Amino acid sequence: MTAAEFPILGTEPLAVELANTLYGTGAARLDFLPDARRVGQWFAEVSERHGVAVPMGPHAARVRMLRDCVHALLSAAVEGRVPDAALVERVNDFTAAAPTYLRLDWSGGAPAACRAGTVTGAAAVLGSIATCCVELLTGPQADRVRRCQGPGCSLFFVQTHSRRRWCHPSCGHRDRQARYYRRHHTPGAS
Ligand SMILES: [Zn+2]
Repeated sequence: MTAAEFPILGTEPLAVELANTLYGTGAARLDFLPDARRVGQWFAEVSERHGVAVPMGPHAARVRMLRDCVHALLSAAVEGRVPDAALVERVNDFTAAAPTYLRLDWSGGAPAACRAGTVTGAAAVLGSIATCCVELLTGPQADRVRRCQGPGCSLFFVQTHSRRRWCHPSCGHRDRQARYYRRHHTPGAS
């Protein structure tokens, strides 16, 4: 199993990577997490990169539910819409199922604070992804969530520099090719 078999960008917050397992729009939409086996493989791919545990047990339906919710919330954000209230409640249900508390660490030098979880397993992992989504939508990067402009591509990304319009340079290449083709092959074009 290689990362190339999932649309993992590798540079995005985990909530964005999860939303991107739903690729394309309409009838051409591809679901990269159709069953528990693929859900497990996806977590194996992202766990090390994002420092999350691979949740065990039958949680695929909840992963898919959170994925659909995050995807819909990011779609609303890029389209400038207020999402359905039920979606907002749903993401809040996931964060509420994994409360965290501030923990003091003062083992040497300066005191430091870290967030510690109150639950483990799938609830903790899904809660952290839901929290990532809430922080993304409300934090300093909130107005930088974008949808790729590449032909047929719908992946979300956080625009890290002002000229970035594509999820990946290869999408930019395809986009330029498509525009070149349209310019030179459109009937009536000179
Ligand atoms: Zn793209």
